[in-house]
Amino acid sequence: MLVNILGITDDAKCYEVVRHLRWPEGVRGPHCDSDGVVEQGRDETEPQRQRYECRSCGRRFDDLTETIFAGHRQPLRVWVLVLHFMGLDLSNEQLAQELDLDPDDARRMTTLLREGVVQRKPAARLSGEVECDEVDVVAGHKGHPEAVRKKGGPAAAGG
Ligand SMILES: [Zn+2]
Repeated sequence: MLVNILGITDDAKCYEVVRHLRWPEGVRGPHCDSDGVVEQGRDETEPQRQRYECRSCGRRFDDLTETIFAGHRQPLRVWVLVLHFMGLDLSNEQLAQELDLDPDDARRMTTLLREGVVQRKPAARLSGEVECDEVDVVAGHKGHPEAVRKKGGPAAAGG
């Protein structure tokens, strides 16, 4: 997926990009992966940041919960710009220059984005049922559809 640079000047669009990346098939609760989710207003300081409540476990979360963007000092807009330039195959050095970032920061950000926007959970919390959506995100972004298909389950194997 190539992020359209025209949309990046708009905060609402940045949050749309994040939602699309982490929940390509609709919002799911990060705690139990349920799609029984209701919207619960917006963040007080960031009005475009949607809050949700999971009806299955009752826990609350928002667009950035358990993503690499949560609590990061770089604004979401910068992350989305980094994603845009990654899509254009800019090097970390070029990217740092374009966005006036510290080259080390740029490298850390691209590394995280390549691993996926959803933070990896400690192995102990992972059960066999948990799907790693972040793998699909990266595969889709970098254009390796076969990697996505491999995770597709029985349908992909049938032929
Ligand atoms: Zn839940």
